[in-house]
Amino acid sequence: MIHGRVYLVGAGPGDPGLLTLRGRDILAQAEVVVYDALLSPRLLDHAPAGAERIYVGKRADRHTLPQDEINALLVERARAGKTVVRLKGGDPFVFGRGGEEALALADAGIDFEVVPGVTAGVAALAYAGIPATHREGASAIGMVTGHEAAEKDASSLDWGALARWPGTLVFYMGVKNLPAICQSLIDAGAPPDTPAAAVHWGTTSRQHTVAGTLTTLPDLAAEADLAPPAVIAVGQVVALRDRLAWFERRPLLGRRIVVTRARAQASALAERIEALGAEAVEAPAIRIEPPDNPAPLAAAAHDAGTFDWIVFTSVNGVEAFFGALADTGRDARALAGVRVATIGPATTARLAAFGLRTDLEPPTFTGAAVAQALAQAADLAGAAILLPRADIAPPDLARALAERGARVTEVTAYRTVPDASGAQAAVDHLARREVDWVTFTSSSTVRYFLDTVGADALKSSGARIASIGPTTSGTLREAGLEPTVEADPHTIPGLVDAILAYEA
Ligand code: SAH
Repeated sequence: MIHGRVYLVGAGPGDPGLLTLRGRDILAQAEVVVYDALLSPRLLDHAPAGAERIYVGKRADRHTLPQDEINALLVERARAGKTVVRLKGGDPFVFGRGGEEALALADAGIDFEVVPGVTAGVAALAYAGIPATHREGASAIGMVTGHEAAEKDASSLDWGALARWPGTLVFYMGVKNLPAICQSLIDAGAPPDTPAAAVHWGTTSRQHTVAGTLTTLPDLAAEADLAPPAVIAVGQVVALRDRLAWFERRPLLGRRIVVTRARAQASALAERIEALGAEAVEAPAIRIEPPDNPAPLAAAAHDAGTFDWIVFTSVNGVEAFFGALADTGRDARALAGVRVATIGPATTARLAAFGLRTDLEPPTFTGAAVAQALAQAADLAGAAILLPRADIAPPDLARALAERGARVTEVTAYRTVPDASGAQAAVDHLARREVDWVTFTSSSTVRYFLDTVGADALKSSGARIASIGPTTSGTLREAGLEPTVEADPHTIPGLVDAILAYEA
């Protein structure tokens, strides 16, 4: 019988970027992923779409699946010959019961591997501006369970030893027992004014730090309604935070922003938003598909060299056109002598990836403005212009070019189809009024997102609306929604800048 193998993989502390390369490579091969609460859903995107995903979400006192059943599940799937990834928060062998799972696998004779992860006790401190060790005053770091503090007699912890600890102490799972932890340390002889802090949801957009001393922290935490998950740091290094708290200075920290673009294109916007400290919730309302009838695009690609101009209005149009050109067995050289115009910097950049420099990138993106820019660059009377575009593109550009005497060939290069699959997370957050912004990057995302979510639900969610430009804003207004901000320039960076300016 061929047995599968189980990988105990550390998922890191929360920021999905803190997964290791080894962890990512192993996830990409997973046939089964068994995962916990506290993990970013983004991590699961590294697993193949067809992999079985099993949530066993452990949370303080709400065990979805008891530990022995998790162990049994891992053994059973491995015996069925599967490649199983057991994805665990932080490091699998630091307070994660990973040791128990590994023992169960060893006892059952199942092959396993451990992929260490970035543990919360170090990472949350780092993001809070607290060096775990420091040359002056912290020559050791102790990671301690905060679970046992309340049962002082039953506790296996030596509070005297902890009070004399020559460095930083980090308590995991200690929110409930925070007063008992601080008091036990003071009772055992730690100076009551020892700096101490609790870092809630470290390394994520929800990060929040409460800092004080062993004496003041319990009350400060209570005032701040501090809830799990949090790590508690005790030691002189906590005071360095005043100068080193880099992450909590990010301008969009704590904001939740919905991205409605097609999944394939969402990442540029999501990454930009997250680099500023916000959480991006991807709610792809549309998906890009090939045209129903590929013949017109294929014919246009075949005749590529016969046009005077090709006007690319989107990244998708560029990709579809060059895909069709490749199907004819040729490449960009087939466009020798053809002039090319592009709308927007992203389209220009995508064209460059195929080896072509744009001849014209009009400064404004409406159909009339583009036609005017083209007319200034060349005589359009009788000019043959190819327009590879979306099935639902507005007709104004083709019309404006035709009015100036051009012979326009419009072909559908791709279709924009509704895709409700990804919107559920956004719908839930909106219903709970947990969304700060919804971003719209085209009229079609507006229409499809509203088809799924409903304009009223968006309105009553209290979320602000960011629009990429006047066309998209017009579609929003038709639906009775007024954009809070409109990007200028009408680009992804412009959209993010508009949100930043508003928040400032
Ligand atoms: N194996 C994990 C720890 C699991 S125990 C690791 O190595 O990080 C769960 C505890 O970890 C929580 O109670 C909390 O104390 C801590 N924790 C996990 N994620 C955290 C986060 N993002 N911010 C702060 N503490 C976190």
